[in-house]
Amino acid sequence: ATGSITAKDVDSFIHHHAPLCMRNLHDSLRADKHLKHGGRLQYGLFLKGIGLSVEEALIFWRQAFSNMSDDKFQKEYAYNIRYNYGLEGRRVSYNPYSCTKIITSNPPSSGENHGCPFRHFSHNNLEARLRKDNISGSHVDEILALVRNKHYQLACTKHFEITHPQNKEKIDNIEHPNTYYELSKQIAE
Ligand code: SF4
Repeated sequence: ATGSITAKDVDSFIHHHAPLCMRNLHDSLRADKHLKHGGRLQYGLFLKGIGLSVEEALIFWRQAFSNMSDDKFQKEYAYNIRYNYGLEGRRVSYNPYSCTKIITSNPPSSGENHGCPFRHFSHNNLEARLRKDNISGSHVDEILALVRNKHYQLACTKHFEITHPQNKEKIDNIEHPNTYYELSKQIAE
């Protein structure tokens, strides 16, 4: 189902199709020109899942870490990118994380941007983010009510429905960030 994308496609595809967890990581990467380890793993594996090859991933991250010397990038980061694609170390090709894994393991501490916004953002931050994305007040309330009841994936599914009004079909509950992305792309095609 997945095509291939290049480093220069990432901004637009993430903006239009990625779930909030990955848009949050992308925005943090652009703002800070860096992401901490947990974020690089979560986002890097997601990007692999949407069809970014290891060659394009090396281009994408090299350009994104624009304040860093090439020497430092090659020494400290390129290995881990190749590792995620199974080209180093144990040579296991790692899979993108599911929602359950993101929601239940390794919560972000301050200064980290991985995790699930529906689970890990404060209510105020989540509300501000949804409003910044131009989601209407009544829709924001619906999402926050699900979050209050700890239905994080239902909140994400609702978020999908609200932000894809052209979709008339009932969708399955979102279980995986890559599913959210693929569904969004299908609707746009
Ligand atoms: Fe990402 Fe899943 Fe959370 Fe949605 S429910 S924001 S896809 S981790």
